[in-house]
Amino acid sequence: MTNSQNVLLLGSGAREHALAEKLTRDGAMVHVLPGNAGIPNSYPEVNPLDFEAVKAFAQAHNAKLIVVGPEAPLAAGITDFFAGSDIKVFGPTRSAARLESSKVWSKEFMRRHGVATAKAWSFRSDNIAAARAKAAELGGHVVVKYDGLAAGKGVYVCSSPEEAEAALDDLQTNYSGWFSFLLEEKLTGPEISIIGLTDGREIKMLATSQDHKQLLAGDQGPNTGGMGAYCPVPFANDNVLAAIRRDIVDPTLRGLQNEQFAFHGFLYFGIMLTPSGPKLLEYNVRLGDPEAEVLLPALDSSLLTLIEATLNGTLAQQGVRQRPGAFVGVVLASGGYPAQKFPTGFPISGLDNLPAGVRAYHGATKRDEAGQIVTNGGRVLVLTAHGNDLEAATARAYEACGKVTFQDAYFRPDIAQRPAPVLAASAVN
Ligand code: AMP
Repeated sequence: MTNSQNVLLLGSGAREHALAEKLTRDGAMVHVLPGNAGIPNSYPEVNPLDFEAVKAFAQAHNAKLIVVGPEAPLAAGITDFFAGSDIKVFGPTRSAARLESSKVWSKEFMRRHGVATAKAWSFRSDNIAAARAKAAELGGHVVVKYDGLAAGKGVYVCSSPEEAEAALDDLQTNYSGWFSFLLEEKLTGPEISIIGLTDGREIKMLATSQDHKQLLAGDQGPNTGGMGAYCPVPFANDNVLAAIRRDIVDPTLRGLQNEQFAFHGFLYFGIMLTPSGPKLLEYNVRLGDPEAEVLLPALDSSLLTLIEATLNGTLAQQGVRQRPGAFVGVVLASGGYPAQKFPTGFPISGLDNLPAGVRAYHGATKRDEAGQIVTNGGRVLVLTAHGNDLEAATARAYEACGKVTFQDAYFRPDIAQRPAPVLAASAVN
């Protein structure tokens, strides 16, 4: 493959903006389906879940590589759809995508292969009474997880019997029909996102990063898709990374090989460093959002080359270089997010006045009839800043948050400012 190739990128968020920017920088001609108002070469008329339409587009544009941003096309089987054709998809097959698309299946996979994780019990929606009894037995210190894809919103972290009851009630109200869910022991400790490119044997890691899932400062309030991220993570030292590799990453790769899964794509490990060692909370079979918006500007090596190497079996020979310094991304969200409904359509100002070293990745934006860029959903923009260290990058990101705005804009004021955790020696040995 040459570096002037046409690449189709599927998705419409700030993660895809960051992917499009990086792949373009690497020399690809990137077409984004459907994309959004801020991403060049967006094609809003193409639905990425309509695989025939994606195929027709790929053929018309002579694209031989499809990079998938979000989980939905993978869970719907886009990789299987193109299998055997001359178009390669960077992402796992439908069956391997169950690592993300089914929390129950994923937990069973972790158990089969000795991946360190929280204890869990699975239930069906026709037996919520048994789950209530188990939650009570655990004093309500449980995490309730809906089995299917829920855009980060099907997880309830509970600290009392009342909270656990309320979470189970909520599950019953929000999801109709037959479904499964997990009840997990609640763990404690700092979280870290470990993301790499894998061909199911080798894995090449991007920088370590940390997300901020809760809406409010101090990690309070409801879970969201993510309110900000930074990289690299200062406390992710060699000991921490070695323990993660030994207890989580290597058993996962062995599991993928033993079960003969075709997995060529990004693999994301959401990890908690507990007093009894690192534990895997979840897999994602794609880049995290907003992690991508800091990891991709931080990546000095060519992502296009790494993707090609993953697909053609030469990943082992690749090195991964990171740019020096730190990257901090703050999400500008619509007031009211993550509720079901909130007003949108507000004009965004300040995009042409970004401080040096700051990028604005577009998520939920669109152009109105007058051609103005307006808000179009919950997570509107991610403002990512580069600095010599985390402090400098954070200051710069917040300077940008003071310049770019829209009516009812909300951002967390404390991204990348968690106090450094004290890791128990047992957490990493
Ligand atoms: P998940 O989608 O499974 O990663 O869960 C979303 C968020 O819920 C995680 O990032 C954690 O903050 C929290 N969480 C998930 N599982 C647990 C657990 N077993 N103990 C404590 N917190 C958890």
